[in-house]
Amino acid sequence: MTNPWTIEDAEELYGVKRWGAGYFSIGENGSIQIAPNHRQPDVTIDMKDVVDEIISEGIQLPAVIRFHDILRSQVEILNETFAKIIEDAHYEGRYVGVFPIKVNQMREVVEEIIDAGEPYDYGLEAGSKPELMAVLAYNENPRALTILNGYKDEDYLTLALLGRQLRRKIIIVIEKFSELEMLIPLSKKLGVEPIIGLRSKMMVRSSGKWAGSSGERAKFGLSITEIINVIELLKRENMLHCAKLLHFHIGSQLADIRKIKEAVSEGARLYAKLIQMGVELEYLDIGGGLGIDYDGTSSTTDSSRNYSTEEYVADVVYGVKQICDLEQVPHPNLVSESGRAITAHHSCVVTNIVGEIKNTGASFDISASADEHILVTNMRELVNSADLHPQERYNDAASFKQSAYEAFKLGILSLEEMAKLDTMYWQILTEIHHSIDRETFVFQELEELEDMLASQYLCNFSIFQSAADTWAIGQVLPIVPITRLDERPAVRCSIVDITCDSDGKLSKYIEGTSISDNIPMHTLRKGEEYHVGMFLTGAYQDVMGDMHNLFGRLTEVHIYSHDDEPGDFYIEEVVPGTSAEKVLETMQYNTDFMAKTVKKCIDREVRKGTIAPREGVRWTDYYEKCLAGSTYLKV
Ligand SMILES: *Cc1c(COP(=O)(O)O)cnc(C)c1O
Repeated sequence: MTNPWTIEDAEELYGVKRWGAGYFSIGENGSIQIAPNHRQPDVTIDMKDVVDEIISEGIQLPAVIRFHDILRSQVEILNETFAKIIEDAHYEGRYVGVFPIKVNQMREVVEEIIDAGEPYDYGLEAGSKPELMAVLAYNENPRALTILNGYKDEDYLTLALLGRQLRRKIIIVIEKFSELEMLIPLSKKLGVEPIIGLRSKMMVRSSGKWAGSSGERAKFGLSITEIINVIELLKRENMLHCAKLLHFHIGSQLADIRKIKEAVSEGARLYAKLIQMGVELEYLDIGGGLGIDYDGTSSTTDSSRNYSTEEYVADVVYGVKQICDLEQVPHPNLVSESGRAITAHHSCVVTNIVGEIKNTGASFDISASADEHILVTNMRELVNSADLHPQERYNDAASFKQSAYEAFKLGILSLEEMAKLDTMYWQILTEIHHSIDRETFVFQELEELEDMLASQYLCNFSIFQSAADTWAIGQVLPIVPITRLDERPAVRCSIVDITCDSDGKLSKYIEGTSISDNIPMHTLRKGEEYHVGMFLTGAYQDVMGDMHNLFGRLTEVHIYSHDDEPGDFYIEEVVPGTSAEKVLETMQYNTDFMAKTVKKCIDREVRKGTIAPREGVRWTDYYEKCLAGSTYLKV
């Protein structure tokens, strides 16, 4: 007898609280609960209510659901943590952070962050010309910083100087010596004095996926020699007073706090030495990198982090303070460019499972026939040898199956015989799997076996659009059923998407505190939708997706919490996903022409009499309706 399934078991399996950062949990009713506002932990939203409302409004899944309150909470938590630790440490500078919009450029996201960050003078960071154009228009707070990174041309620099004319605190971060050689004459010509930042190429090597952002061969930043040359040039041009900020960024998703401490020491030391050389720096910008515990393991794996936000902030504040005090230089204002940490939690993708692909699904009558091939007879004997050692039985089954395949290729086995062999093979594997006790019996091929027997759940979304990093860099994202969590999940499965690409699947799943090749989910019920959520997609995933198979952007649903509303939430806005028409147009198709062509062909058939006139009109309308419709599967 197995014990009854509890919510604690579900929590243990899917680790919702471990990666949920206080925002996500499993309710007693078995569905995912969200407490989106860190100041009001008692206001909770039932994810099932949200999905029900989305469906009753006629919105098709998949959809991105954004919890704006989570975004606001993350901005508040980061700013308040810095403020508190700065006060505790008697640190003499202030914290003036910026949000790097490349992490999520959605206008609504940027607006929410700016609004929530207003009281703290929280600013924006841009890394390209179009991003600069966006931040110029959206960061109007004259006390908040606008930090400009990335490679720059004359237009980029001119736009930045326009920002100075508008009295914004725009800081042009010099990544390359030649940018300064371009900036100086330009600022003299326009009569606008820039505020200049220097990006240092750091010696500390970060680890993980973004190790290339640091070290001597990093793509960005100035070496120590180049920094000295920059200072000499600024001095000669009488512009040394323009250099106000020292910047570094050693990579994203820094898993190990020790690398952060190292970088802070190096950066603070460099800052102090530059002050001693007479550069009047006011800001030390520590870049991004504050990680997210995607897999909930609090470890140094690439999808986790071994520290809390408080620890990160304390290490930065106390680390900089100690070095500045030793070097007897003033404490700089601290800037950080956390993107992932601000946005990852606020959005998720909700979708439905549209089918199951099962190796063991089909079966064929396996009874013996008079002149059957010996391989078939052998396999049947194996079916009846349940007492054989599982390992031996497994090896034999695999070897018969291989021989059968060879025989089939040579024309020795018939299709019927192959079908029988196949049916028996899967039957044996399933029996072996059920018979072995996972706890006490270690079977070398157990994982292989589980993987082979796992179902594939066909999920209505595109990995390439909604979870690019799971494919590109092996990032782990939590995937959890929205409901039925009070029920034992009885099927091991992997999640495959609807693109025509065999890479279109998730290959790493959170199972307890480890990572598995597949994940337990619930049995699909006829006539009932099974909804799953992919969580922590708010950083990069939301905006990096590509057009593989022309699926396009998902419909978005924006949620605000409100304790006067039924269910404590309301849908503030629905942004429709990209229609088939729009997606095709980005690939240079002329959809009017396409509709006309199809209509012409239908009309021709109508004239010939193969299609009835009324039916012809229906077909024409139907084609046009599909052009205007969603690219994802309708269920
Ligand atoms: C990408 C990037 C960031 C954001 O990093 P996160 O790890 O998402 O916080 C910050 N600064 C620079 C220069 C970047 O390129």
